[in-house]
Amino acid sequence: MKGKISVLFMAALMVIFGMSTVFAEAGKPNIVILATGGTIAGSAASDTATTGYKAGAIGVNALINAVPEIKDYANVSGEQICNIDSKDMTDAVWLKLADRINELLSKDDVDGVVITHGTDTLEETAYFLDLTIKSKKPVVIVGAMRPATAISADGPMNLLNAVRVAASSQAIGKGVLVAMNDEIDAARDVTKTNTLATSTFKAPELGVLGYIEDGTPVFYRETTRRNTINSEFSVEKVTALPYVAIIYGHADGDKALIDAAINAGVKGIIYAGTGNGSVHKADEAELAKATTLGIVVVRSSRVSNGAVIAAEQSYTNEHFLNGGTLNPQKARILLQLSLLKTHNLTDIQRIFDEY
Ligand code: ASP
Repeated sequence: MKGKISVLFMAALMVIFGMSTVFAEAGKPNIVILATGGTIAGSAASDTATTGYKAGAIGVNALINAVPEIKDYANVSGEQICNIDSKDMTDAVWLKLADRINELLSKDDVDGVVITHGTDTLEETAYFLDLTIKSKKPVVIVGAMRPATAISADGPMNLLNAVRVAASSQAIGKGVLVAMNDEIDAARDVTKTNTLATSTFKAPELGVLGYIEDGTPVFYRETTRRNTINSEFSVEKVTALPYVAIIYGHADGDKALIDAAINAGVKGIIYAGTGNGSVHKADEAELAKATTLGIVVVRSSRVSNGAVIAAEQSYTNEHFLNGGTLNPQKARILLQLSLLKTHNLTDIQRIFDEY
């Protein structure tokens, strides 16, 4: 009877104080796994199918239960944020994720967060969070290229490794990390490089941060670019992001698309130019028109390596900004967050130089 009463008393305490980890094993970090869908939670009709499956079919608890070894490294709990194919990612999901992660990481009893995610837009979500999470605690994003039902599915080992990284003191203060295929990359630098291969996530230009070496996360370098607690951006109380379009440069140009973007009410344009952010002359006049209307134009590149820096004098005269080494999809996110704060071109160029 006495035992029963003390259990009831403990349960009441847990309800009152929200001490959900009171029974967590001491000594292990408390990691929350936030699931958003993707192939890692995908289910196919056969164990040999690696395309034509439903992404985001399996719930967070099934994902966690499929890898019981996780519990050797951390006390884990799961939350389902959404269950989508990441090709359908939206600002609304990003804002919800950022809010929830900031809330979780402000608690003393949460030591890190792992996010399961589809691979298509994983690098974008990672960079958005890198700029908007206000904590040094580890935030690790992970996905898989093969559905959970496939022979040699890569999801279980990737998930285990992501938890190992999130549980590692070495990961503190390194910004948002991507853990895939035994490698650890910085959110800013990583990109999906192969449509099908499990070794798709690379930071080909600026390099891998570290490896998971036979189960142990080992870091060799870190980014010098501003992120997380050193970021000036906040999305607290933000309900939508400014409309920024990406226009892809190519032979012949296509000024009709730039016109369409202007008419659709964009606040910014990322021009994925040829070479060092080179702008087709047919497009240049249209982009110059955009800047006179107050639309911020940033030159980026369709080339996957190298920085976009100042080039033609006419670009400077037309107030086009330089996108640096960010790929167009990440330049879009940085410009969206910049436009929440400022429309001053000097300030926005400073942001592109620092992040
Ligand atoms: N289309 C899937 C997604 O991004 C692909 C994947 O997860 O690998 O959700």
